[in-house]
Amino acid sequence: MAAEVRPRLTVLSGPSGVGKSTVVAHMRKVHPEVWLSVSATTRKPRPGERHGVQYFFVNDDEFDKLIANGELLEWAEFAGNRYGTPRGAVLERLDNGEPVLLEIDLQGARLVRESMPDAQLVFLAPPSWDELVRRLTGRGTESPEVIERRLDTAKVELAAESEFDTTLVNTSVEDVARELLALMAVV
Ligand code: 5GP
Repeated sequence: MAAEVRPRLTVLSGPSGVGKSTVVAHMRKVHPEVWLSVSATTRKPRPGERHGVQYFFVNDDEFDKLIANGELLEWAEFAGNRYGTPRGAVLERLDNGEPVLLEIDLQGARLVRESMPDAQLVFLAPPSWDELVRRLTGRGTESPEVIERRLDTAKVELAAESEFDTTLVNTSVEDVARELLALMAVV
């Protein structure tokens, strides 16, 4: 029987504040055809975020239903909110032969590795710890308590780098976006 030909699922993960969404936003500006999964979350929208664009913003009951109906490929609790990847849209794209990118936290990356062993896991690392603190503090959208919590989580998260197939250091958004596209075989 011929082996199933399916493009790889690429997972971009790394500590909160490392710049994952900035890299992804840049990548999509250059290559708008690259499909990025839109996650569901119970977090409240930040200013400028729109339902169905950055996230599907749902309440706790709705998130419970997504889990109960098996509609999430993975989900995790992060800094007091839940985040999950809609399963159907991802599998549909992969079945159509399109590359798929997930931008998710480390717990989610581990779950994807278990359920889809051929996924490639990419770790986005900060140039330094000081730079990560600067980025998380400078975002200006979170309270000091939330920032503190995210920094505590980031300390643990940085140690997970060795579990990943590839590490990209976020010294330049353009460079990282280019490297990511190359890993996804888009360019
Ligand atoms: P933020 O609240 O800053 O948008 O996201 C917080 C963290 O949740 C980030 O590390 C982000 O990558 C992660 N995240 C976003 N969507 C998902 C998802 O669907 N699943 C998991 N496991 N993590 C997610």
